[in-house]
Amino acid sequence: MDDAIYPTREEAQEANYVEASRPMTFIQWKGTDVCMDVYCKCGESFHIDGYFAYSVECPYCNRMYACGAKIVLREIKERPEWGHCVAKKDVCDG
Ligand SMILES: [Zn+2]
Repeated sequence: MDDAIYPTREEAQEANYVEASRPMTFIQWKGTDVCMDVYCKCGESFHIDGYFAYSVECPYCNRMYACGAKIVLREIKERPEWGHCVAKKDVCDG
């Protein structure tokens, strides 16, 4: 995990463009609502229910975090019955 502290949210998000090993993702936030649990470096945790959560702030220590564009992928063997997306092959080819 990158422990760097970036001056701005935009610079932190730009750092996400570096492609790492596969599997990996790059998601584009669309300004939709989110529900997330955040575990801060200070040891506290908090819950966010909100729109446009491009960055969050810990209510205990006031650290601020840009929300990244990567999510964790863990390979599975069975196709789920709902909430499963299958992309067209040429969508991400440029
Ligand atoms: Zn904190």
